Amino acid sequence: MPETIRDLLDETAKKLADAKIERPRHEAALLLSGILDMPLASVYAHAGQPADQRKAQKVHSGAERRARHVPLAYILGTAGFAGLSFLVGPGVLTPRPDSECLVEAGMAAVERLDECEPACVRKQNQMMPVKILDLGTGTGCIGISLAVWLKKRGRESKLTLTEKDPSAADYARHNLALHQLDSARLFVTDLFPPEHNQQYHLIVANPPYIPSDTIETLMPEVRCHEPHLALDGGADGLEVCRRIIKHAPDHLLPGGWLLLEHGFDQAEAVRDIFMATRRFDLISPIKDYGGHLRVSGGRLRAV
Ligand code: GLN
Repeated sequence: MPETIRDLLDETAKKLADAKIERPRHEAALLLSGILDMPLASVYAHAGQPADQRKAQKVHSGAERRARHVPLAYILGTAGFAGLSFLVGPGVLTPRPDSECLVEAGMAAVERLDECEPACVRKQNQMMPVKILDLGTGTGCIGISLAVWLKKRGRESKLTLTEKDPSAADYARHNLALHQLDSARLFVTDLFPPEHNQQYHLIVANPPYIPSDTIETLMPEVRCHEPHLALDGGADGLEVCRRIIKHAPDHLLPGGWLLLEHGFDQAEAVRDIFMATRRFDLISPIKDYGGHLRVSGGRLRAV
């Protein structure tokens, strides 16, 4: 039995190293931090303190799951994203830092709506709620982050989320409640909501975009544990992107924005799909923190 937090950390790091988990000591510290409910720095700073045996047992079973390459976020049940916390677990894609640049792009789009399209955001001099649609939302992290950001700025939003998979939609529902977005709507449906005459200022999506035959090459955390429905974008990875770009104009207000996350090598192909519609003025693709072009999109032209 480990006597101190340091013993527990050493033992966990060894178990993860033996299982060829990358950065085993850091992962072990994150696991301890989550399960012992203490900040990461305290795991190191208070390493000499005695380890609570009941919690040590939980760390053991968590480490065993992590050694089988279960994503850390599934074990802890939460993931940080865009400065917020989201409930996650098996059956839903883990929020990734790459997608935070989609949230940032969404924020910039809302700011440009206000500057450039007064008729679209103001009615009789009153600011209208910003209507946001997040397609294939998973945990809800992208749409929810945007709505929380607007709320903090005292700006009303009308958030609509869609998710095809009912068990992923359950996470989105819980995350909406967690972030007190009671008026948001969630449709369990494939991409666009089944409604007429609803148009949005902003549509965002992190669709599945991995080419089908690339899935087998992904790290085991993703390949063996994350839902393929959220990853597999068909033969060239862009099947869902194509459907979104084709139908989005029907669901956007004039001057409204469509922003999509895509693979690190797909910016040019996504640009071609957008250009072929002749309906959008495009922005330059936006880089993620790794320096890859990760988000593309633009604003619907007035016809
Ligand atoms: N970025 C994710 C990954 O590489 C893929 C997410 C997606 O297909 N939307 O695991």
